[in-house]
Amino acid sequence: MRNILFVISGPSGVGKGTMVERLSRCEELIFSISCTTRAPREGEIDGVHYFFLSEEEFKRRAEAGEFLEYDNHFGNYYGTLRSFIEEKLQKSSVVLDLDVVGALNVKRSYPQAVLVMLLPPDKEALKQRLIHRHSETAGQIENRLARVDYELSLKDRFDYTIVNDKVEVAEEQLREIFEKEKNRAEGDIS
Ligand code: 5GP
Repeated sequence: MRNILFVISGPSGVGKGTMVERLSRCEELIFSISCTTRAPREGEIDGVHYFFLSEEEFKRRAEAGEFLEYDNHFGNYYGTLRSFIEEKLQKSSVVLDLDVVGALNVKRSYPQAVLVMLLPPDKEALKQRLIHRHSETAGQIENRLARVDYELSLKDRFDYTIVNDKVEVAEEQLREIFEKEKNRAEGDIS
């Protein structure tokens, strides 16, 4: 059995956060806490959902090479901490919630990472989810939706794609992929 980097990706609003939260309830999968410069949403806790940093601090860490990958989405920086991943991988598998480009960047540094793209049942469902979570303004929702076609066009570069229609079904499919990948022998790329 090997410890894997299990990357859950997909367009904004597709349900990555919910899925990653459910997956990381099991001890075998530790959630990779990213750094971000965006403000915490209601209920979000520093050091649990994200490490919330000032832009100055984020840039300092980026220059120091602390991020495995980082990007700016919608005016805010987001980055995966190299040290966090390396330390956790020693004892467990790690699950990451990343945007599509970030996921592909992780694969470049860690070719053995397993990338899953969550797909919406359709674009309207995505829009409704973004509206109903009440965490973005109308303008922010439009920005996020404008990226969807581009993000979906990259799906062939992912190891797996899953349609997130019913949460329980998608979660079960993800667990099956995780078990299969974890039990795959090191170096076996079949
Ligand atoms: P949100 O603001 O909704 O929490 O996240 C916005 C987007 O940033 C989501 O697509 C999420 O997957 C992505 N994201 C979260 N953490 C990271 C990270 O460390 N690196 C990158 N590239 N994207 C991230």
